[in-house]
Amino acid sequence: MPSCPICGKAADPAYRPFCSARCKQVDLSRWLNEVYRVPADTPTDDLPDDSPSRPNEPTTN
Ligand SMILES: [Zn+2]
Repeated sequence: MPSCPICGKAADPAYRPFCSARCKQVDLSRWLNEVYRVPADTPTDDLPDDSPSRPNEPTTN
């Protein structure tokens, strides 16, 4: 029986390889955090909010 990678308890077959839905959720959250941390080389949220995205876009109204 493999042990839960989150808390180390015996894994439950229903939640393999975790011991419970809670630990499964914890692992998912960690995984998502890792994904969001990957594009650290290209920061996109560093731009000021008041910077125009399309300075010279002609209005066709
Ligand atoms: Zn666990």
